[in-house]
Amino acid sequence: MEHAQASSRRQFLRLSGLAGAASILPSCGTAANTEAKPVGQAKNVIYLMVDGLCNGTVGLAHHWQLRHKATPLNWMQLLEHEGLHRAYQDTASANSPVTDSAAAASAWGSGQRVNNGSINVDPSGKSLKPILSYAKESGKATGLVTSCRITHATPAGFSTSVPKRGMEDAIAQQYLEREIDVLLGGGARHFLQTQDDGSVIDYIPQFEAKGYQIVKTATELSAVRRGGSLLGLFSQSHIPYAIDRQNDRAYKDVPNLVDMFSAALNQLNGMKEGFVLQVEGGRVDHAGHGNDAGGILHEFLEFDACIPIALEFIESHPDTMLVVTTDHGTGGCQLDGAGSAYLDSGPALDRINQLRHSFEWLQQGFEATGKFDPVLLKTALGIDPTDTQAAIVQAALDAEVVYLSGALNQAFGKQLNELTAVGWTSDKHTSECVELFAFGPGSEAIPPLIKNYEIFGILTKALGIKV
Ligand SMILES: [Zn+2]
Repeated sequence: MEHAQASSRRQFLRLSGLAGAASILPSCGTAANTEAKPVGQAKNVIYLMVDGLCNGTVGLAHHWQLRHKATPLNWMQLLEHEGLHRAYQDTASANSPVTDSAAAASAWGSGQRVNNGSINVDPSGKSLKPILSYAKESGKATGLVTSCRITHATPAGFSTSVPKRGMEDAIAQQYLEREIDVLLGGGARHFLQTQDDGSVIDYIPQFEAKGYQIVKTATELSAVRRGGSLLGLFSQSHIPYAIDRQNDRAYKDVPNLVDMFSAALNQLNGMKEGFVLQVEGGRVDHAGHGNDAGGILHEFLEFDACIPIALEFIESHPDTMLVVTTDHGTGGCQLDGAGSAYLDSGPALDRINQLRHSFEWLQQGFEATGKFDPVLLKTALGIDPTDTQAAIVQAALDAEVVYLSGALNQAFGKQLNELTAVGWTSDKHTSECVELFAFGPGSEAIPPLIKNYEIFGILTKALGIKV
């Protein structure tokens, strides 16, 4: 026992480079010795996150990528990247072991857990000041990028305080008042609001009056004047899924997440006092709720393509802290063992490629006529539907359900599971602990096990912000 302790102490001394200074160290305890080390200061923070990424979704994409591409996922390569600090993150909210995105983003954004559904308003009703407000006060520029509505819970959790996440009109107003410098995503409908009395509030001229460049398409985004504030709204609601943008020319002028992230960095880079930028791959969560295997795979792959942009930036700007993480799991997505001795799981990663569109794209197509269309179904999923399957979907269309994914899963779920070997635990969020990767100054303060609300303190400390 004694021998083991001595040897582990020697190991610690070697690892911490302190072997020569052994005599000045106390004879017991190792953690205390590392505490004196000053935490690095970061001029910029890039907070790159996926909404609703199960560990199983990473596993699905990892094996798909290995089978179909020459290089592994960037997400997996992060594990071998120099300077990595890594944590396992507990994602609970104030009132549930299973968080929603509003409470999760608030925990990161203000350092306190709130109830599900609230954005930076604590259980007693007190408003909490979000990190982008602190950043702004310390002279930093601020940015939010998402494939969801920009007024959705995750970007709002870094920058606004509202009692209910559904108050997206109020969130748009707070963006204007708080002058978030770069806003790129969907959600145009909340910037031109029709009031109950029929009158209209148009925030766009007010953003213009504050000096914002306004863009609505990928072409316009690629032509923005560099530097200065920027508002880009590329869809009335969420930005269409990656799988649909790739396979439907109607979306050819909608930017992808990589385009938006790069544009945001172009605007924010060079700001004298630095910046804080949150980038959200928001629709992995939506595909998880919909149990949509094709949707989730391509949505995560698009997020994955943002990672090299971030790594390139921190390499040329070593005063930048980068965090890559997710807020919770959604759907319990897994590539399951299939067939005898699981030998069918590999071929299933080929068959998943016959999925060419999301369930949302199908829903929009059917709703345009009010009729189930077997040709559209075949285009999207590569399946010839039976009359029974068609009838299930038609009944849901007749009932004008909000999300058609329930009926599509009822009709085609078993068949899709046999095709792709992708299984789901539910259409809800999950309580699983999730990965957090961090690089750059300040990231050394990240403990191996972290609670979501502890990240705020690490970010503000790295930025030299007093709270
Ligand atoms: Zn969700």
